[in-house]
Amino acid sequence: MAEVFQNYINGKWVESKSGKTFPNINPADTRETIGLFQASGAEDVQEACEAAAQAQPGWAARPAPLRGEFLFKAAELLESRLERLGEEMTREEGKTLPEAKGEVKRAINILRYFGGEGARAFSYQIPSERENVFCYTLRKPLGVIALITPWNFPSAIPAWKMAPALVAGNTVVIKPASLAPLSAYRIVEALEQAGLPAGVLNYVTGSGGVAGNALVEHSAVRAVSFTGSCAVGNQLYQKVAPRKIRVQTEMGGKNPTIVLKDADLNYAADILVNGAFFSTGQKCTACSRAIIDKAIYRPLVEKLLEKTGKLKVGNGLEAGIHIGPAVDSAQLETDLKYIEIARKEGAKLLCGGKRLTGGNYDHGYFIEPTIFEGVIPAMRIAREEVFGPVLALMVAEDFEEAMRLANGVSFGLSASLVSKDLTHVHQFINRIEAGLITVNLPTAGVEYQLPFGGTKESSFGMREQGPVALDFYTETRTVYLKYTQ
Ligand code: NAP
Repeated sequence: MAEVFQNYINGKWVESKSGKTFPNINPADTRETIGLFQASGAEDVQEACEAAAQAQPGWAARPAPLRGEFLFKAAELLESRLERLGEEMTREEGKTLPEAKGEVKRAINILRYFGGEGARAFSYQIPSERENVFCYTLRKPLGVIALITPWNFPSAIPAWKMAPALVAGNTVVIKPASLAPLSAYRIVEALEQAGLPAGVLNYVTGSGGVAGNALVEHSAVRAVSFTGSCAVGNQLYQKVAPRKIRVQTEMGGKNPTIVLKDADLNYAADILVNGAFFSTGQKCTACSRAIIDKAIYRPLVEKLLEKTGKLKVGNGLEAGIHIGPAVDSAQLETDLKYIEIARKEGAKLLCGGKRLTGGNYDHGYFIEPTIFEGVIPAMRIAREEVFGPVLALMVAEDFEEAMRLANGVSFGLSASLVSKDLTHVHQFINRIEAGLITVNLPTAGVEYQLPFGGTKESSFGMREQGPVALDFYTETRTVYLKYTQ
């Protein structure tokens, strides 16, 4: 019988009012139910928001360095459980064990980083143009924050939203993705065990359309931080905009890697394989378009096919596996649907393209890493996010055409360039329309201590992570103090 996981509301682990649950299933082996989670409704969300509102003034009154202490303690607890939590993440989301353990470690780093923010300078003093006037800024928490997170980084994303929100003096209600709610549960559990006061952090599971919707609609909520698809994020923004509360939506991408003719081809092929296929292409920063200078197109494609052919697809718990399953049947169907669309629109399939079957593959959602060539901007595979291990190859006459192709989509999350030419490197950095820019590195693989976020249709609102993350979770107040009369 699968373990039942509860909501965490006002310092207590509780069932949903309806008593209903939903299963969290292993995408590599659908015979395994990892746990049953609460199918919460509007009433559960309401209770969580009320608890958060009640707890907020007391939490904000604690000195920030002491708020940070809770994050340090939780980080320590998570670190002592890293192996187990990594394994759990692989089982609920499908990514390989090294990737999962790396992500848990990243969540731990994030808690430590923002624990430290509690003791760092939150505000600054600015000289006044008037005599005897002392001017400075204060950061005030916003109040209750709603966090809505996706399944693809089930530990890191909840951590990078919860930690800055809490250390800034806000209280939180988080609704994690229904496909992978256990990783966020473990962070909430660690914070509870670290002694976080009741009501400061509340965790409610349930479907986006019901629990997620009730959360963003609750009147106590003063800010919403959302990561997920454009469809849901854009709709969510429109819903809360009339209330003039703060919103941050981090959404999809169609991230390009440009390879110029001076590139080391072996190195470039490794970068493409890493960016396009690791984590089954299910990273918002995954590379889905390779834009290649025509002078090196054929030899680079040969290397790319050779390396892709060596990738092992399977259960991420097994050693030597490079690519796990798609997260569920719907994502697998989306991947296969786009492969079909690309074929019909005239792209040429170079490798992959099929669901893997036979033996253990029959129990999971496995798909071959797939490469198309002959992709042109008008094709949907060149413009729309697939969120699977599907790479579109495009040929560029020269650097200028490569830049036009790279920027010619509605998204702008991450982009990379492979080149040793300093002039092109700087031109790329200046002109690429992306929030995350990498050179001689894959499009994916960002670090916790730097700002994160995209441009254009990929993101709306302020940046997450790094030193600027607190800007979203606080409001600046400006003080003019004359100390004489
Ligand atoms: P999603 O379907 O948009 O779901 C994201 C979250 O929103 C889930 O918790 C979901 O709940 C919830 N939700 C769904 N409908 C809702 C509604 N009407 N009101 C409120 N909440 C609602 O996205 P996903 O499939 O989990 O994640 C994949 C997407 O996330 C991709 O597009 C990827 O590019 C993007 N992503 C972006 C970033 C970034 O930082 N830019 C990072 C990671 C992922 P349920 O799970 O219950 O449906």
